Amino acid sequence: MMRLALCIGEEHDLRLTALAVLICLVGSAATGQLFQRVKSAAGAVRAGWLMLASVGIGTMVWSTHFVAMMGFRAKVPVTLDPGLTLLSLLVVIGLAVPGLIVAKKIARGAGLAGGAIIGAGIATMHYLGMSAYRVDGIVTWDWAYVSASVLLSIALTGAAFQLFGTNGRSARIAAPGMLALGVALLHFTGMAAMNIAVLDLGGNGLSNLTQVLLAVSTSVGALLVVGCAGVSALIDGQTQNEAYRRLRRMALHDGLTDLPNRMAFNEELNRRFAVKGGAPCMAVVMLDLSRFKAVNDTHGHQAGDQLLIALSARLTAMLRTGECVARLGGDEFAAVISFTERGELTSFLERLQAALDMPFAFERFTASIGANIGVALAVHDGFDANTLLGKADLAMYRAKSAHSDAPCFYDARMDDAVRSRRDLGNDLRDAVQNGAFELHYQVQASIPTGEITGYEALVRWRHPTLGLVSPATFIPLAEETGQIVALSIWILRQACFEAALWTNRHVVSVNLSPLHLADPRLVETVQTALIDTGLPPERLALELTESAIIHDRRYALGQLKALKALGISIALDDFGVGYSSIDVLRAFAFDRIKLDASFVAEIERDEQAVSILRSVAALGATLHMPVLAEGVEQPGQLAIVAREGCTAIQGYLIGKPSRSLADPDQVRRLMTLRPQAVDADWHVA
Ligand code: C2E
Ligand code: CA
Ligand code: CA
Repeated sequence: MMRLALCIGEEHDLRLTALAVLICLVGSAATGQLFQRVKSAAGAVRAGWLMLASVGIGTMVWSTHFVAMMGFRAKVPVTLDPGLTLLSLLVVIGLAVPGLIVAKKIARGAGLAGGAIIGAGIATMHYLGMSAYRVDGIVTWDWAYVSASVLLSIALTGAAFQLFGTNGRSARIAAPGMLALGVALLHFTGMAAMNIAVLDLGGNGLSNLTQVLLAVSTSVGALLVVGCAGVSALIDGQTQNEAYRRLRRMALHDGLTDLPNRMAFNEELNRRFAVKGGAPCMAVVMLDLSRFKAVNDTHGHQAGDQLLIALSARLTAMLRTGECVARLGGDEFAAVISFTERGELTSFLERLQAALDMPFAFERFTASIGANIGVALAVHDGFDANTLLGKADLAMYRAKSAHSDAPCFYDARMDDAVRSRRDLGNDLRDAVQNGAFELHYQVQASIPTGEITGYEALVRWRHPTLGLVSPATFIPLAEETGQIVALSIWILRQACFEAALWTNRHVVSVNLSPLHLADPRLVETVQTALIDTGLPPERLALELTESAIIHDRRYALGQLKALKALGISIALDDFGVGYSSIDVLRAFAFDRIKLDASFVAEIERDEQAVSILRSVAALGATLHMPVLAEGVEQPGQLAIVAREGCTAIQGYLIGKPSRSLADPDQVRRLMTLRPQAVDADWHVA
């Protein structure tokens, strides 16, 4: 140690030593930047940075060594072998290449190994440089010092590159210091290892002035090379960071409103859930704008965009600490708020509503919107981001169904029913795609003859876990979720296909949803179903309710006429409930009226029901429309509907809906079951 200190203090020109240390420090810092470029680049760019980094390291250590050498006062004439001096530079650059290739690898200890190779390169450079240093004297080496210098170079450079590879800020600062220390210790330990026995041979060496000039010009050159390389690396790193920041911002922000998007919102939620000991309460708020679609439809999409931007600015302006609003897409927004007292949440919701309620005035238009708001609370309603989002969504859905602008808080009792209906809607989508339905048939028979006249096709859904699901549940669901037309087409084609295989020639009646009647391709669908299955048109009847005709009457009647023109028959279903307007009967020549089952259920008890039944039957007779009574379960009901002029029945009395067709003899026998007493009891004048 003493010898090292003496070597630096007494045998070196301190100004040149300081210059060497400066080059070493600047070069080490530049090496750090260059090494980061090598690590982050790929392909040809990486090769370029590898070259530049190797030249940078080589130049840095070589010139440090050279300037320090020039500062060494050897007390004898000194000359330099230019060839060997140059070779020493090339060797260190050459060894830096494999060193960097190893050090940049991701494997554990790669930095250490690569750095060790570079450290060995630096040591080789030093001793080659020393052999180029010619003195008038006998040079002897202290091998212990030589070994120590080589080991120090390898160990410290290895450690420096290991640190360069880590992400910590302090490690990144320590690494260049470690490298500089390695380079400096190698040099001075190496110099301390050298003993010169002076032999003044009277030769001419380099003058002190020449040595100083050489050192200064080398320093300037080296600082320029190393500095430029380091600065390029720094600029490139900044540009890349900037590009990365911009990309990340784009990925996490909504392009239109600049609010955080769904991905950012999820990240934020997860982050808040992960914070231990964060705010004790957290609420997730979902909002869906109410009258936004109207703005889009009336004023165009540009106006819609303008409104979203203005609303987002309002929402952002009302935020306080702990609150965050995001746009999830379309007109759907979400917010998260962390709070300690319930009052903070109430205040947030009030501010939110005020922002939504205030009308928007633009140059071209004004608009008043509102929103349906759903709220879910952590940890009461859920322990993770997804659960809470789902529950806030369910609560919002309820607010929407209730047409309420007031926030709805998630309520398991109410919202779980909505959820199971949603789940069922999703299952239904799969079922429609896979045709997971079957048709059951319910027999219809003529009252005067007791003969079977046809069958009504009634669809059933075989659900994988729920078993057979009633059409009363899933038909309205299919109508709500827009799957009814696809389902209806399947039913129609399947009914035609199965009926075409029957050995009898009975009519098959298929129920038609009002939404399917509105489908412009309906007539074509029916026609192709008939052609494809070979079912004659006169064997197909479609049943539809008055509601199908009420809305767009002209269009509906046009569709019905076109259907009838195919040769099929049309029945008016569920008559007696709903509108029961005579107008509908006059507007279209139905082939049959079906009297609703709920109505038939009353006739044994309610005289008024019998009067209405009689009027409907009379109306049918006048309009030449046979009347079928639905839901006939009792012989007494059959007796009354027969007496009052109905022409046919359908009901559990003669057969329940079933996969198999009815036995005609049994139906005939059941049709004759009419207790005589009924006629006497209910003889209405
Ligand atoms: P709907 O068209 O009025 O069909 C008659 C319903 O009454 C059937 O119920 C049938 O099983 C039931 N029913 C028949 N006889 C009796 C009886 O004597 N007593 C009682 N209590 N009920 C009787 P289902 O099959 O559950 O169908 C319910 C409704 O679902 C149907 O009412 C119809 O509106 C709809 N639906 C059924 N199948 C289809 C279909 O294929 N397409 C369309 N669009 N709707 C269908
Ligand atoms: Ca029906
Ligand atoms: Ca019916």
